[in-house]
Amino acid sequence: MSIIKLNNFEVKKMQEAQFLNGLYIFIILILSIATIILIKYSISLRSYLKEFMKVSKDISNKQFDSRVKGQMSGEMGIFANNFNSMIDTINITIKDITDKNMQLKSIMQSVSHGILAIDTKGKILLINDLAKIMVDGNQKLIPEGKNIRQFIQNQIVLDSIIYNMSGENSTVIQKNISKDTIYKIKIDPVHFEDTDAVIGFIINIENVTEYVKLENMRKEFVANVSHELKTPITSIKGFVETLKMTDNLDDDTKNRFLTIIENEATRLTRLIDDILLLSTIENKTKKKVEKVDLFEVFEEVHEVVNYIAKKKNIKVKYEFKNKDIDLWEYSGYIRQILLNIISNAIKYTGENGSVNIKQYIKAKKVFIEVKDNGIGIPQEDIDRIFERFYRVDKARSRSVGGTGLGLAITKHMVKALNGNIKVESELGVGSKFIIELPFNTELAKKVS
Ligand code: ADP
Repeated sequence: MSIIKLNNFEVKKMQEAQFLNGLYIFIILILSIATIILIKYSISLRSYLKEFMKVSKDISNKQFDSRVKGQMSGEMGIFANNFNSMIDTINITIKDITDKNMQLKSIMQSVSHGILAIDTKGKILLINDLAKIMVDGNQKLIPEGKNIRQFIQNQIVLDSIIYNMSGENSTVIQKNISKDTIYKIKIDPVHFEDTDAVIGFIINIENVTEYVKLENMRKEFVANVSHELKTPITSIKGFVETLKMTDNLDDDTKNRFLTIIENEATRLTRLIDDILLLSTIENKTKKKVEKVDLFEVFEEVHEVVNYIAKKKNIKVKYEFKNKDIDLWEYSGYIRQILLNIISNAIKYTGENGSVNIKQYIKAKKVFIEVKDNGIGIPQEDIDRIFERFYRVDKARSRSVGGTGLGLAITKHMVKALNGNIKVESELGVGSKFIIELPFNTELAKKVS
C-alpha cells in the first residue's frame, strides 16, 4: 500500500472541485424541479383556457346556462368566479330585456288598432299583426328592419305616412282606402328624451268605416226628422195665421182649414210616436221578455186592420196552419211587426183589393206571409224600402198617413228577435212580405 502525500495546494484544489460538483448538482436539481412545476402549470393553464373558451363559445351561442367548472385555486379561481358572475348578470339582463320585449309585443298585439313604430328614415322598428294586414304588408318580408317603402303595399296608406312624417306635431288623416273602407291614420312624432329632436314616429291606424257610416246615418236621420217635422208645422202655422188674420171666413173654409190643421197634427203625432218607438228599440237597455200566443196576437191585430180594410172594401183573409204556437219575444214586438206589415198591405192596395195572410212552420221556424194585390214596388226600390224615411212615392205615403219609418221599425224588431224579413214584389201586381221568426227559447233565460 502506497501512501500519496499531498501538499496543501493540492488539498485545496480537491476541496474546490468537490464544492463545484455539489453546486452543479444543486443547480441541475433546482432547474429540474422548476421545469416540472412549469410543465405542470402550463398543462393546467391550458385546460383552464380550454374551459373558458368552451364557456365563452356557449355564451355566444346563446347557451346562457353554461358556466366555468373545475376547482381552480388562487387568482385563476377568482377569475373563474368573476367570469361566472358576469354570465349571471348577462343572463339576468337578457331575461329582463326578453320579458320586456314579450310584454311590449303582447301589448302591441292586443291593441285593436294597427300600430307601427318607425325611425325618421322610415325603417320599421315595431309593427303589430293588425297593422301588417291593414297596410297590406308584403308577406314575403320580415317587416322589422325594412323600410316602409319596401314593406307597405297599400299606396294610399304609404303616401299618407310619408307625406306626414316630417312634422313635429301629431297629424290625423282620414282616408278612403277603398269604396267601403275608411282608415283614420294618426302619426305621432317620438322625441328624444325632453328635446325637440324627432327620432321616429308612432303610427296608429284605425278602421273607422262603421263609425263614419253611423255618424253619416245619424246626421241624415237628424236632417230627415227636422225636414219631416218642419212640413206639418209650417202648414199648421200657415193655416192658424190665415184663420187669425182673416175676419170674414165662411164656416166651410174655416172647417176645411181646421181639418187640415187636425190632419197635420195627427201626422206630427204619428211621426213623433214612430221616432220614439225607433229610439226605444234601438236603445240597448233591458227590455221585457214574454211568451205570447201568436194566433191571439194576430187576432188582435186583425181586428184593428180589418176596420181600415173595410173602408176600402179590402178583404183580409188568413190561413193559420198552427193556431197554438207560443213564441218568446220582447213585449209588443210581434204585434207591432204584424200591424206594420198588414196595415201597409192595406194602405198600398186599391179599393176592392185583397190581402192574404198565411202562417206555417218550416225548418223549426214560424213563417208569416202577407200578400197583397196592390200597387207593388219597383225593383230598384225593393232593397231600400227598409231604410228610414225611404218612400217609393212620398206624396202617396203621406196621403195614406205614412211616416216612412214603419218598415225600418219592423226590420229592427224582426232582427232583435233573431228573425228575418224578405219582400217579393212586382209593380202593378202586388207585394208579398215574408216574416221568419224563431221560437227564441233562449229569450226565456232573460226573463227576470
Ligand atoms: P210608410 O209610412 O211610408 O208606409 P214604410 O216604412 O212602412 O213607410 O214603407 C216604406 C215604403 O215602402 C212605403 O212608402 C211604400 O213606398 C213601400 N211599401 C211598403 N209596403 C208596401 C206594400 N205592401 N206595397 C207597396 N209598397 C209598399
